[in-house]
Amino acid sequence: MSPQALPARVFDLLVVGGGPAGQKAAIQAAKEGRHVLVVDREAAPGGECVRRGTIPSKTLRETALHLSGLRQRAAGLHCLARSPIDAGTKLANLMARLDAVVLGHEHFLGAQLSRNGIEFLRGNARFEGPGRIVVDRADGRVERVAAAQVVLATGSRPRQVPGFQVDGHAIVDSDSILTLEHLPNSLLVLGGGVIACEFATVFQALDVAVTIVDRAERPLAFLDREIGERFTRSFQAAGGTLVPAVEPVGVELSPTADGRPAVRCELKDGREFRADVCLLALGRRAALEHLGLETIDLAPNGRGFLEVDEFFRTKAPGVYAVGDVIGPPSLATSAMEQGRRAALHALGLPQPGGRDLVPIGVYTIPELASVGLCEAEAKERGIAVRVGRARFHELARGQINGALDGLLKMVTDVEGRTLLGVQVVGENAAEIVHLGQIAMLGNLGVHAFVDHVFNFPTYAEAYRVAALDVLGQCHRARTAA
Ligand SMILES: Cc1cc2nc3c(=O)[nH]c(=O)nc-3n(C[C@H](O)[C@H](O)[C@H](O)COP(=O)(O)OP(=O)(O)OC[C@H]3O[C@@H](n4cnc5c(N)ncnc54)[C@H](O)[C@@H]3O)c2cc1C
Repeated sequence: MSPQALPARVFDLLVVGGGPAGQKAAIQAAKEGRHVLVVDREAAPGGECVRRGTIPSKTLRETALHLSGLRQRAAGLHCLARSPIDAGTKLANLMARLDAVVLGHEHFLGAQLSRNGIEFLRGNARFEGPGRIVVDRADGRVERVAAAQVVLATGSRPRQVPGFQVDGHAIVDSDSILTLEHLPNSLLVLGGGVIACEFATVFQALDVAVTIVDRAERPLAFLDREIGERFTRSFQAAGGTLVPAVEPVGVELSPTADGRPAVRCELKDGREFRADVCLLALGRRAALEHLGLETIDLAPNGRGFLEVDEFFRTKAPGVYAVGDVIGPPSLATSAMEQGRRAALHALGLPQPGGRDLVPIGVYTIPELASVGLCEAEAKERGIAVRVGRARFHELARGQINGALDGLLKMVTDVEGRTLLGVQVVGENAAEIVHLGQIAMLGNLGVHAFVDHVFNFPTYAEAYRVAALDVLGQCHRARTAA
């Protein structure tokens, strides 16, 4: 044993990675009275989610939302209708609360772990055989730990693509965009997924000229078409340029005549675009480097992620994988639930019962959200449906807030009794969708939205309007029959 090495300590469960997936696995196991260790190379729990993902991007978004919201609601406030942002505004000034938000998160997550008796160890973890992990600690010491059950929750990184080299200044990815010193005049976004569209619309709301280039026919193609089209319309109406169905072949630095940094991107069809900054949002890959997976005979699949079964077991006995490391949906919400379920299985405990109904929230401006089936999915499954709509301009809250473009779609069975899904575009969509989720989980019928009183004026009223639309369609269908 090296003089620096400490003797192996044995735990009931070892969790590698202290992001949302790892934390929830650890907390679930600790609540069952197990002895748990979380290892993370960072000084505090939180993961990429807190340091480079959800939390920082949503903090900048909050500023953008307030500024664009001020303009949207400025009917009686003409003095605020002009943007307070100048070209070249320091990005850090728009995220003045970021350090406090991150520290606050790290603090309460750390307190949550200690409250549950979970040990947190800072260091780089790697397997040296089944159930055995070496931790290269931040203080230079090496610690050996062991457990019959290990949960891998090491997260993901932006995917690197040949020909698209990040320099952190003019060519950035989601890890580096928020370290830009100044707000650019123009931003070219490569990719049409959630991260691409979120940053595109946040920068647009900060008065940056944004172009999205993507190989897909439409951005956020996994969403209901009507909702997606409203998003696209809103992006274009705000001056954004959308270049769909074409592949970029490469991006390079191309300084302006006066020497300012800028980029040039060439597309497969010969077109080229120039901008001050280019954001590469070309997908994610699992963070698996230096984990010693070969010592447990485990390798990623062809797409670079760890393969798991329905209980999040990898092919290596006693090794579970959860969160971004197993690939899409790559959301903090699903990562947490996967962590919890993996821990339950590892401890031989039953999985949660009931329906699996995970909502999707996309924090673009305008916000998008969905739960359950959309119209097209229902049709694909041969289910006849009715679709009720509530347009936000029909709501007092929409009028007051100047949020007139919003739409809530309610998908029900053809009799208008059972709620099958809800899709929303517009202010507070990611919050509003939960009302539909709970109604579906509680098997409340469509009538519940008509028979019960909601606060007024609220966006929740959209459910009543959409339900009345469905019931009206049913009534007309019966009368016509
Ligand atoms: C810009 C952006 C915005 C996002 N917005 C949202 C959103 O609004 N809502 C949402 O639900 N999701 C969002 N996500 C996705 C969300 O951040 C991820 O899905 C989530 O962080 C995944 O959690 P995780 O626990 O799997 O991994 P991570 O959060 O990536 O944590 C992994 C941890 O493992 C540690 N680690 C890795 N390897 C080792 C090792 N060998 N030894 C020790 N420690 C190690 C890392 O240091 C890290 O702390 C966003 C992502 C990005 C990039």
